[in-house]
Amino acid sequence: MKIFRRVAVFSAALAIAMAPGQVGQAKTAKPVKKVETVVSLTFDDGDSTHLAVARMLERRGMRGTFYINTDTIGDELKLTRRHLAAIAGKGHEIGGHTLTHIRLTELTQSEQEGQICDDRRRLVAWGYRPATLAYPFGAVDSDAKAVARRCGYDAARSVGGLREWKCPGCPASETTRPKDRYEIRTPSSVREDTLLRHMKQQVLNAEKSGGGLVPLVFHRVCDRCGLYSVTPERLNPFLDWLAARKSRGTVVKTLQSAVGARYRPVPG
Ligand SMILES: [Zn+2]
Repeated sequence: MKIFRRVAVFSAALAIAMAPGQVGQAKTAKPVKKVETVVSLTFDDGDSTHLAVARMLERRGMRGTFYINTDTIGDELKLTRRHLAAIAGKGHEIGGHTLTHIRLTELTQSEQEGQICDDRRRLVAWGYRPATLAYPFGAVDSDAKAVARRCGYDAARSVGGLREWKCPGCPASETTRPKDRYEIRTPSSVREDTLLRHMKQQVLNAEKSGGGLVPLVFHRVCDRCGLYSVTPERLNPFLDWLAARKSRGTVVKTLQSAVGARYRPVPG
């Protein structure tokens, strides 16, 4: 009896709390449409290993985003301009990463402009249409974001801000219409101590949270070649696993395509 009375009181309270229209809506509400999970594979610094990486992606029908520092292209352990043209020719995205890979937050606005705009101008002069930028070290402040916009970039990638061991309370994914297009969030960079299951988990977290965008940040792809590296033996099985997720609605897109970033000319 007591239980029945409690249910009756609760139902009455609910009826008062909901306006008649809301009651009707609650009855006809459809389940929320599942958003697809989009993974962007981004590779920073124009590393010489990235030519082989582009081939690894192409074999699986994937395209990646390659962030370039134009001042160091052609240097030892870096891509050459011919490599870059070969990568772009296959439909991968070429984005900017500043002239010299400097920490933008330690520069004045006019220095930031030199680093971001001049790098972008050079990419355009080389025949590319860069629409997205990656901040070196993921270091970004409001000045850097304003300069990225002024230099004509339509979106920019940071590093960090998504869920991982360091930040269990962070969101599992970015959205494909990011809240801040000039600070697109990611998990931390993939490092030599990042295991295959860690990479998979980033994607699974997003899938379980209803989808969204997961940009992954890679640097060198080689054996025992620095903290910010991943071996092909680890990346290849991850790409195979990722390719097979397509049947579950998880797809790989360049960052530009994932967020719909448009090319705009560099202002004079
Ligand atoms: Zn970098």
